[in-house]
Amino acid sequence: MKIPLFSKKPETAEDPVCHMKVDISAPGGGTAEYDGTTYYFCSPGCRVAFEKEPAAYLSGEKSIEM
Ligand SMILES: [Zn+2]
Repeated sequence: MKIPLFSKKPETAEDPVCHMKVDISAPGGGTAEYDGTTYYFCSPGCRVAFEKEPAAYLSGEKSIEM
């Protein structure tokens, strides 16, 4: 189920660590590039976790519940 939080649609990307939607114009955790793709993070903690083990998060092997 999707709940609309904003009246206008910002461009979003999914944080690969916690799977939150992140506004790509102002990602709270910044960005990281892996394998030619840019990923966006809700918080610096998610980015640091991703940078340690990017493949594990992208494969779904690892995830963080927030
Ligand atoms: Zn996150």
